[in-house]
Amino acid sequence: MTSTNDAIDLLNLSFDELVALVVSWEQPRFRAAQIWRWVYHTLTADFGEMVNLPAALRAQLAEHTYVGRLEPVDVAVSDDGLTEKTVFRTRDGHYIETVLMRYTNRNTLCLSSQIGCALGCVFCSTGQSGFARDLSAGEISAQVLHYAQKLAQQNAHVTNVVFMGMGEPMLNDEAVWRAIANLNDREGLALGARRFTISTAGIVPGIERMAREAMEVGLAVSLHAPDNALRNRIVPINRRYAIERLLEACRRYIERTGRRVTFEYILMDGINDSDEHARRTAELLRNLLCHVNLIPLNPSPACPFRPSPRERVMRFQEILVNGRIQTTLRASRGLEIEAGCGQLRERYAKRSAEAGQHG
Ligand code: SAH
Ligand code: SF4
Repeated sequence: MTSTNDAIDLLNLSFDELVALVVSWEQPRFRAAQIWRWVYHTLTADFGEMVNLPAALRAQLAEHTYVGRLEPVDVAVSDDGLTEKTVFRTRDGHYIETVLMRYTNRNTLCLSSQIGCALGCVFCSTGQSGFARDLSAGEISAQVLHYAQKLAQQNAHVTNVVFMGMGEPMLNDEAVWRAIANLNDREGLALGARRFTISTAGIVPGIERMAREAMEVGLAVSLHAPDNALRNRIVPINRRYAIERLLEACRRYIERTGRRVTFEYILMDGINDSDEHARRTAELLRNLLCHVNLIPLNPSPACPFRPSPRERVMRFQEILVNGRIQTTLRASRGLEIEAGCGQLRERYAKRSAEAGQHG
């Protein structure tokens, strides 16, 4: 039996909601725990494999629910094999991207949280392609389950999850937090809360919520400029939440969690990479428990800017370090597979639009 159109994606339910569902079918509560383990621990989406469930329950599940899966339509692997990007097609025909980055002792997944993004940062291909819709919690979790399953076959695990793919996670925070809670659950994948990082362009209410949440999820803030005039121009949401308010919210997050905030700073030639910009950034972040991640711009056809030259990057880093700001230079990963935010999907969507199949 196949599920109907208004069937429930089990990945959208919390554990308590799954209990309520099976109880409404007059099944004992422990059936929910069994289903949960199949989905999040054994990583199966096939009710036929859930052999400890009565056949009638399996049939009922198949009729009214499904375990959301995304269809991989394109996979690109970097030359060194360490970075892999998958373009997934959603059930309603949109495309999203997920990137796996393998390191010596961790496997980090970079997730999408929305289809497109409404914030329109000028250097970002996702931002330039506009906004279609939020991803559901199930679609967020499905990206992780896809890779959890794939890595399990290689005796490996997803160890870290960062919301640095397409979209602004803090404008879809209900779904993001729901997915985190489900993936964090000890009876399932059991991914520790501290292994998640939410990256935001600066949605202050979202950061305030993070400071209140019981789960200690990491915070990354896409700063990219030390003053409001420049930041207004390249990260337009700054017009709504200016740098002062943004840093105030970060300060509260640090006080509440004791965790270090990561500030991301993309270096763009002649735009935000002068000595003066570096000095002002150091000034701005002084006395804040933080660290700066410098990222050379990943250029895309739609992007009007160029990456900063190597010596500029080194000089910028030196000024920050002299200003006692802990700074790392992010090694550019997977440039040749268009691993920059939104880039492979953009090409894919274009290709299918040309073929007349894009929905
Ligand atoms: N919307 C959130 C998370 C997704 S973007 C945010 O903006 O933080 C994730 C990161 O990719 C952000 O730091 C963003 O600034 C960065 N990014 C976007 N376009 C980029 C590009 N062309 N080159 C390098 N980094 C880019
Ligand atoms: Fe959206 Fe982040 Fe891209 Fe800005 S950088 S447009 S917030 S996805």
